Amino acid sequence: MQRCAITKCNDYTSESLYKAFNEIIRNTDFPDVHGKKVLIKPNILSDALPEKAITTDARAIEVLLHILNERGAIAIYIGDSPATQTGKLSLSLSSLDKAAEREKAIICDFRSDNRIHEIDGLRLPMASILDNVDIVISFAKFKTHQLMSATGAVKNMFGTIPGLNKSPLHFRYRTPESFASFLMKLFDECHVDYAFIDAVIGMEGPGPGNGDPRHVGLLMGSENAYALDKAEAVIMGYESVPLIKTAEKLRPGITESEYPLIKPEEVIIEDYARIGKGKKNTLRSIIGASIINVFHRHDYGRARPEFIADKCKACSRCVNICPAKALSIENGHVKFEKKKCIRCYCCHEVCPFDAIKVR
Ligand code: SF4
Ligand code: SF4
Repeated sequence: MQRCAITKCNDYTSESLYKAFNEIIRNTDFPDVHGKKVLIKPNILSDALPEKAITTDARAIEVLLHILNERGAIAIYIGDSPATQTGKLSLSLSSLDKAAEREKAIICDFRSDNRIHEIDGLRLPMASILDNVDIVISFAKFKTHQLMSATGAVKNMFGTIPGLNKSPLHFRYRTPESFASFLMKLFDECHVDYAFIDAVIGMEGPGPGNGDPRHVGLLMGSENAYALDKAEAVIMGYESVPLIKTAEKLRPGITESEYPLIKPEEVIIEDYARIGKGKKNTLRSIIGASIINVFHRHDYGRARPEFIADKCKACSRCVNICPAKALSIENGHVKFEKKKCIRCYCCHEVCPFDAIKVR
């Protein structure tokens, strides 16, 4: 059976990380990287300071790069394509550029180098580097996610679709379940060999872009990204999350795994600020959601985003990413056409000024 290793890692010092990575590698089926080209796909939702816990921490990535070099990888690439960046890929705030330089890794901007793949009948651009490496590692961040409840190693590969090309997919796959089934097909196409989650400092509350950092003190790794994501959801205190529920329904047994070190049930964080925490399904909300579903033929039983005028800087990031064309800027503020909104929360994800709330 496949294995999922969870180990304590209380801080981002090289010593703690090196020890934790090696413990994980010893206790799972980590690929032999000797003589191989390796791609690491971190979660760089936006280039942000490490203390915001938005990105996979550059210190953790640097130690992983060091280990891959020690083990004889002949070339290591790091890549992503944040939807919010329009110019050249910049990784200076996250310090990932310096980490890559020190360990001689090559940074790839997926937006400038991609090729078309066919997934679910769609022709989608995806990072070309996926076709040119021997080993792919997804390195996610332990974070909540407004639409999917949690974001992990499987969803992390959504970033292989460059920039704003991701946005229309939210319009096509409007429910968390349909989006999850698409993510599974995309994940298959990426041929991921191994996955890590940086859970030293996670994000709780309104993730993945505007939540609060939370010390979790763990590093996690597995050859089975679904098992890893399930472990993350359990530790956050969810009974289930849409990706895992959908994956277990479509591919029974997919999350089965042994836990040779810490078991997720042993480290559940009861007071983790989960998405939807504390909201109970009342008869009124269930009937309301059902009526809405009948009219819209998909699950709109979710809260609309709210735009906080005082905080808005009219930067247009939400306008550019909104797949439903529900947003525009008028007189220095966001104009929101509520009827068009499909509750994908892309706007909330990219707002750098915390001016969008989902309650
Ligand atoms: S307004 Fe926000 S939540 Fe609504 S469709 Fe646009 S991006 Fe999605
Ligand atoms: S709501 Fe946020 S993302 Fe949208 S224009 Fe205002 S500041 Fe920019």
